[in-house]
Amino acid sequence: MVYRSVLVVGAGLAGAVHARQLAETGLHVQVIDARLHIAGNAYDETGPDGIRIHRYGPHLFHTANTRVLDYVRRYATWEPYTHRVRALLPSGALAPLPINLDTINAVTGLRLETEAQVRAHLASVSVPIAEPANAAEYLASKIGIQLRDLFFRPYTKKMWNLDLEDMDAAVVKRLPLRYDRLDTYFPEDQTQILPRDGYTAFVGEILNHSGIEIALETRFEHRLMREFDFCFASLPIDEYYEFREGELPYRSIRFHHRSENRDAAGSVWGGLHGTDFSVVNFTDGGPYTRETAWHRLPNHTSRETRRVTFTREEPCDYRANNYERYYPVRSADGANAANYERYRALAERDREHIAFIGRCGTYRYLDMDQVINQSLMGVTHWLSERGLG
Ligand code: UDP
Repeated sequence: MVYRSVLVVGAGLAGAVHARQLAETGLHVQVIDARLHIAGNAYDETGPDGIRIHRYGPHLFHTANTRVLDYVRRYATWEPYTHRVRALLPSGALAPLPINLDTINAVTGLRLETEAQVRAHLASVSVPIAEPANAAEYLASKIGIQLRDLFFRPYTKKMWNLDLEDMDAAVVKRLPLRYDRLDTYFPEDQTQILPRDGYTAFVGEILNHSGIEIALETRFEHRLMREFDFCFASLPIDEYYEFREGELPYRSIRFHHRSENRDAAGSVWGGLHGTDFSVVNFTDGGPYTRETAWHRLPNHTSRETRRVTFTREEPCDYRANNYERYYPVRSADGANAANYERYRALAERDREHIAFIGRCGTYRYLDMDQVINQSLMGVTHWLSERGLG
């Protein structure tokens, strides 16, 4: 088979990296996206306050993968940014997240000072569970009931509409546990950076190749496949197969923006506490999970208007938000994962024509660096299988 032209569905990170890698080998690549813009859920734009906001929630790039780092540096100028998050406690005080020595002191009133003391304290409050079967048991075995039910129970219910007992532990394991005072959100990743000119410009640069054509506001239709030798699709895999194995559920987010005078910047936690944290997570049982103060991210003020923008996130079912799919749901019973496997088996039979990519195509809760890595490896493998690499 001679490969000349390839269809890439979706102009997000997965689609863009696939398109670029394929175009570099001389293939003609047609990228389509149903939305009005490129960059998928990483899309950012400057709002009326002259502040750049990420339309689909805060995207903080972090990685320990040098191959991915080399790749992203080719397409944007990046600047160091160490993400720090605080949790708003019922008392109104702010405590570091992920949980560290200071978080434990803030909640318990203890005055722990050393890592050994933190370990001893956590050992005394944790519940011994040899093989935790869900997020509730995992957290109880690591941090005990009080910290679990304060920081994880209401937030997880809001975020996923699932109790911790029904949630796969892998989801809460995204937050590491610190026994020291380090208060960065991604302590395990050496590199934490943001693209100076934003993610839209970054993805635009990846797509900027003479072999790539882009059609926005263009929905995938099965008949399009006949015009191309192969298709890489970041489509929801269940949608492609017309939901014949049932729906793969997603959580979505409704974003509530608020504009304030920069001098007052009177968000509950911003103004009063004079903090410089760009994200605060809410521990309460209300509808919102977190709030982002966009002006606190570097290079996010492009025009001085004396106004700043805050965004609160209200998670919801994707069907209640115009089928905007953001987060695949990993339940403790593995039902959704098993359902996805049935779709993957269908896709395996179609592997001569189509491959599914990205968060929606592979139904995985992937970070940006993981999407790029998955895409780079996927294209390399695809090319070598066909003797094109
Ligand atoms: N989580 C929580 N409380 C927090 C932060 C996170 O319970 O204050 C749990 C929650 O289930 C969440 C998961 O940990 O969905 C992963 O959090 P992360 O901040 O990585 O989510 P993302 O930034 O991808 O939305």
